Amino acid sequence: MHLPLGLPEPRPVPPGQYSAWDRALALLNRDLAATLPGVEPLRLFALPADDPNEPEYVFVALSNGEWHGSQLDPDSRATPAAALAAVADAAQETVMELLWQAWPLCPEHGLGMHPETDAEDQVSWWCAGARSRSGSAHVHRAVGELAAVSTPLPPARP
Ligand SMILES: [Zn+2]
Repeated sequence: MHLPLGLPEPRPVPPGQYSAWDRALALLNRDLAATLPGVEPLRLFALPADDPNEPEYVFVALSNGEWHGSQLDPDSRATPAAALAAVADAAQETVMELLWQAWPLCPEHGLGMHPETDAEDQVSWWCAGARSRSGSAHVHRAVGELAAVSTPLPPARP
């Protein structure tokens, strides 16, 4: 009798191992705390890659170690903006699929927002809802800034 070969157990990633993703996740967790206060902060979990010569797979998971979606692209650690965009995408996938809700929501339109990186490497939550007259999508806030006190948004850059 053999026990069935189990999948490897996901390993909680200790702080500091992937500092670029840690910093990005700290910003994401600020937004999570601001918008879903009942949800524990997200964490990084890792699994060995199928090919032992490849870097391990790292995921953005709920505090219980469950995630949904693909692993973080190892190349996204190259810049803070790339790390933040990758972690925001992964966090959004995990929250939406496992908590069954669009997140984060634009308070103006009630639509789920998506992380976008602008030409200056600022990663922000974008809403597809149209503002009156302008008729185009809008940036709600920088990722990590959803908790900021509500102030009128600055005029769009020309
Ligand atoms: Zn909106």
